[in-house]
Amino acid sequence: MHIGFLGLGNMGGPMALNLLKAGHSLTVFDLSPTSLARLVEAGASAAASPAAIAQGNAELIISMLPAATHVKSVYLGDNGLLAHVQPGVLLIDCSTIDPLSAREVAKAAAEHGNPMLDAPVSGGTGGATAGTLTFMVGGSLADFDRAQPVLAAMGKNIVHCGDSGNGQVAKVANNMLLGISMIGVSEAMALGVSLGMDAGVLAGIINTSSGRCWSSDTYNPFPGVLETAPASRGYSGGFGTDLMLKDLGLASEAAKQVGQPVILGALAQQLYQSFSAQGNGGLDFSAIINLYRKDA
Ligand code: NAD
Repeated sequence: MHIGFLGLGNMGGPMALNLLKAGHSLTVFDLSPTSLARLVEAGASAAASPAAIAQGNAELIISMLPAATHVKSVYLGDNGLLAHVQPGVLLIDCSTIDPLSAREVAKAAAEHGNPMLDAPVSGGTGGATAGTLTFMVGGSLADFDRAQPVLAAMGKNIVHCGDSGNGQVAKVANNMLLGISMIGVSEAMALGVSLGMDAGVLAGIINTSSGRCWSSDTYNPFPGVLETAPASRGYSGGFGTDLMLKDLGLASEAAKQVGQPVILGALAQQLYQSFSAQGNGGLDFSAIINLYRKDA
């Protein structure tokens, strides 16, 4: 299939490479010439603008952009996709943005005669490279079925979450819970260690008891508990504090739009904000435990 792809950064770059590996042909666009060159070297054709992607013969167009402002400008701008794309071409936005913006862009696409899916991902850059991402997809079931074989070249868990925007709903709800649970595990681990307990023994108890969760058993924030976790390599790599902060901001913004209280989500956002303001935005988000550790 011929596919247009916009946004070739840490996530979009490897995702586009996996589409090429699966035998699709690609026309790509990014504001960064370096990111563009990497894909051209791998066999993609470069386009000079979103409009040029739209005017090509792509049957499907995918975007992977930083935030809602970029998505709106790429889709709704004068030189954007909707002003130039043929009706019927399927549009898939994989960026993480707030659900209401996703619905607004999908509505504009529908008015232009283009079906659109929101398909944010989890799995990070490792999952993007390995082609094992989880896609949370919002839009019609018929469009989901059409997109499924293409998404399967980039991910292994592809879930239809319901109507337009619901992929983003699933993503913000999950990541808000992740941000909160990491703080809970940090608080409990720091308390236990301060009271004289060995961190590894405490983690073992939690992980076979009712406090167990992904933040405790797969990604424990205490250094040395899990060799594979970012905590055991100085909180490098992994999922950055500023990316968690972005997702908590989306959750609290979406909550405000529907009058839904997210008390712990808002508190978690403030804690990560304060941690980031201390110069830690680039550290993995599990480093939030350093707000609690007396010895850190
Ligand atoms: P990134 O900053 O590495 O890449 C974004 C790319 O978009 C850049 O190459 C940039 O040049 C390009 N871009 C910006 N504006 C553009 C425009 N108008 N037209 C074309 N290209 C443009 O970001 P990333 O880490 O790849 O993240 C992309 C999205 O995926 C974000 O919404 C992020 O929240 C989400 N996400 C990231 C991760 C992660 O671990 N990095 C995990 C899950 C989801």
